[in-house]
Amino acid sequence: MHIIHIASELAPIAKAGGLGDVVYSLSKALVQLGHKVDIILPKYDTLPLSELQNLQVAFRELKSFDGPYTFNNIVWSAQYHHLNLHLIESHHPDYFFSRGMIYGCPDDTARFAYFSRTAMEYLFKSEQKPDILHLHDWPTALAAIFYREIYQPLGYSIGGSVLNIHNLEHQGITSPEQLSRFGIHAFASHSLLKDKSRPDLVNILKGGIEYSDQLITVSPNYQKEILTRDGGCGLDETLTKHKKKLHGILNGIDEEYWNPAKDSYLLKNYPSYPINSPEQLEEVIAAKKENRQHLRRYLHLENSSAPMIAAVTRLVPQKGPKLIEIALRRTLEKGGQFVLLGSTSSPEMALYFHNLREEFSRTRNVAIFVENDEALAHLIFASAHGFIIPSLFEPCGLTQMIAQRYGTIPIARMTGGLVDTVFDIDTSQKPLKDRNGFTFDYPDAEGVHWALDRALQCMTLEPKKRQFLIKNGISRDWSWKKQAPKYLTVYQHAQKGHPRPSPRALTEPLTTA
Ligand code: ADP
Repeated sequence: MHIIHIASELAPIAKAGGLGDVVYSLSKALVQLGHKVDIILPKYDTLPLSELQNLQVAFRELKSFDGPYTFNNIVWSAQYHHLNLHLIESHHPDYFFSRGMIYGCPDDTARFAYFSRTAMEYLFKSEQKPDILHLHDWPTALAAIFYREIYQPLGYSIGGSVLNIHNLEHQGITSPEQLSRFGIHAFASHSLLKDKSRPDLVNILKGGIEYSDQLITVSPNYQKEILTRDGGCGLDETLTKHKKKLHGILNGIDEEYWNPAKDSYLLKNYPSYPINSPEQLEEVIAAKKENRQHLRRYLHLENSSAPMIAAVTRLVPQKGPKLIEIALRRTLEKGGQFVLLGSTSSPEMALYFHNLREEFSRTRNVAIFVENDEALAHLIFASAHGFIIPSLFEPCGLTQMIAQRYGTIPIARMTGGLVDTVFDIDTSQKPLKDRNGFTFDYPDAEGVHWALDRALQCMTLEPKKRQFLIKNGISRDWSWKKQAPKYLTVYQHAQKGHPRPSPRALTEPLTTA
């Protein structure tokens, strides 16, 4: 099968969060299964071009437009870890992809509407007709609409389209005028795109849900949650209408990239991996200890035997930043150490955590870094005893899987994909061999304390229980091996076709640039 992703992220070279990880690792898994995969990305100014192979111009004069103006784009092709990339270099005067960041600009909807339109124009002009066009969240959801409303009527045809919902919270809500700049004025006021709570605005993700052939969200439990009023972020009715084409497939992680036996960011690689004997488990625990001592030196933390709890996260309300603070204070009260690596584009959030760092500047048991640091993240995953994920909601979550692969025990709030991946050692109904962490239901101090206190007790006083949890976490298959074939099944459904809005149901004629 030939799959083309149009995506705003690709880990690790253009990554803001888990979306980038999924595009990278799913694509690799599909290539390993013998499929052809291409990825179309903006050519961000932050891309480390030296890490790409065979970078060359693939299409020199690709016209795209903004209102009455036409702009040129150059499309570059390259390989990255056996993946075929197509990088769109926009010559738009607003320097859409030369902002030193992926998201966080006031004109993000215009940036990604332009990108989606230009990506479709590229496929059309270069006559690439994939079996599957795979789109990711609101930034590229518009491509499904451009395809059906503009390019299909021009005779261009693909097998089918699939939209991945990585996070329903972000929907790309904007004014119809913004979208009409990129050629969709004819249907921007159409009810399929109208935002439910702000009918004067258009909702890009809603449009993508309506127009895509199939929908995949990133865990079975999140699939259930988004069909409810509480979890649907205002799109539950739209999703319920399309329930038959919605699938919940748990994300995997890339086992080569997240491999403690070879990870070059670690001081000490785990000598034996996976674990088949008590001796090998001892070796893993010893390697973790060496990494932890190295991390303590690096972060100027006290060199002690205290349990280390960590969080590596975006600092956004979804991730429960207040609950992270509660966990930090509790860990210190109980004699532990806390390491937080949190990234944010919000100055207020950054200030909040800088102040917290200041408050604890005299103890040598807290380290807070407000930044994105891939290398430090790997070392933290390998070093910590426990990893806290107190999310208010969590579509899938990858950090609980990565932590377990590195022998670090998750302490997680029961929501979204965390329900599918973390099973409480004391209270889960699962067989003992599947239990792998500590969980809590209510996102409040009491909930955090309940799970964290048990985790800290286990880490200090119950070595057998800790070893059991480490072994269960490491032994589980967190890869794409079982998940990637499920994507292929959905791709097959997408190719069969489903009832869709009829093309040109709308009045104004549309042309390509
Ligand atoms: P989300 O996509 O909501 O951010 P996920 O758990 O699905 O959450 O994926 C988060 C990914 O981003 C993981 O690979 C994690 O290691 C990485 N990550 C999150 N915050 C940071 C950070 N501050 N520095 C480095 N990596 C981070």
